[in-house]
Parts: sequence; C-alpha cells; structure tokens
Amino acid sequence: MSESKLTKFLLLPKLKLIKFEHIHQKKCVIYHTESDSKSSWCPNCGLECFKVHDRRIVTILDAPQLDKTKVIKIQKKRFRCCGCKKVHTESINGVNKGARISQRMQRHILFTCHNFANLKGVQRHTKVGSKTIYKRHYDQLELEWRKRKNDPWPKTIGIDEHSFCRNKKYGHMEFATIVVDYNNKRVRELVPGRISGQVQAALKVYSRSRKRKKYSYGPICHLQKLCQRLLS
Ligand SMILES: [Zn+2]
Repeated sequence: MSESKLTKFLLLPKLKLIKFEHIHQKKCVIYHTESDSKSSWCPNCGLECFKVHDRRIVTILDAPQLDKTKVIKIQKKRFRCCGCKKVHTESINGVNKGARISQRMQRHILFTCHNFANLKGVQRHTKVGSKTIYKRHYDQLELEWRKRKNDPWPKTIGIDEHSFCRNKKYGHMEFATIVVDYNNKRVRELVPGRISGQVQAALKVYSRSRKRKKYSYGPICHLQKLCQRLLS
C-alpha cells in the first residue's frame, strides 16, 4: 500500500509514519508519526511562522483497528512567531485542540453508544472512561441535531405519551410526550410532561416561527388542537 493511501485510511491527514509497533499482550497497535507541515499560522497575530522552536510528542487514541486499541503518537512542531515572538503548537487535522482522542474516535463513540446496551459495554470496547464517553456522545448528538433542527415539519406526525423516569422525591412516574416524523421515520421532538399546558408551552416555539416562515406550521396547529382535545 502506498504511503498516501496508508495515511488516508489509517492515520490522519498530513501525518508521516515513522515506526509501527504491535503489542500482542495488550492487543494494541501504536503508530509513531510526525507532521509534514513546514509552517503554521500564529493564533495571536495571524502571521505565517516557519521557525521551529522545539517538538512535542502527543498521544492520541483513535478508533479501534479491528479489535485492537489504536494509538497514534504524533511528534508535533512548536513554532516561534517572527512577529509577536510567541510560541505556539501546530494543530493537527482530525484532532480537536487539547483533545486526547481523534474526531474519528468521537464518531466511533456515537456508533458504539447506539449499538451497545450499557455504558460498561461501551467502556470495555472503546477503552475510554465514562466521563469522556458521556461528554463526547452528547457533543456528537448535538452536531447531529444541528444538521436536522431547521428541517421543515412533515405533513404526517404521530403523538404519544411515554413513561420517562421515576420522580426521585415523590416516587411517581414522570411522562414525556413524543412527536414522531412519519415521513422521515424519526423522532421529531420530545417534550417533558403530558399535560396539555406543558405540551403547548413547549411547542409554542414552532408556532411562533410562523412569522419567520421557517417551519411549515400546519401540523403544529393540528397538534395543539389535538392536545387540547385529548389531554384537557
Ligand atoms: Zn504572532
């Protein structure tokens, strides 16, 4: 396999492989790499810097390779700016600033959270702590939600109440109202409570958008009438 193909599939963009290590006992593969960038843009003044100050090695956890833990050790350059004389570390595509896991791993966490039954199973599979899983999972869900939040409302919706959780103080069951988009076969909205007032208050956001003409508001009007009829 050529180096460019290897970089594309196994490593991250603009990384060059130096050494490969396979630890059989720990079921772990380690890729020692370095970035091939010659310059970096200063985050303080915006000038392009060419002068390398020193180098640092960072350890990034990537999505598992088959059933093996995959670690990428990257030798990053630190550049000294010729304008403001400050030192900064170059950024690597595919890794967020200050993160210890790659963006590929974040997407893998989302995938495993959808397919595994509990948090322990996800922890065992990804070798990541529960706090990181929780945070990264919700970050990815937020990104997914942003892709769809401005979608127009469908012509056909379903509404139902579901028991959600038990109230810790009084012990009764809390309910949530779910609105399903039948046309696209997905959940469109989840509203806490099943009382008409609560549902109407939560869905007022969409009926207000009538002025902005952002959403098709027809189903919402029907929904509110239906709520009034069924729940009051
Ligand atoms: Zn600068």
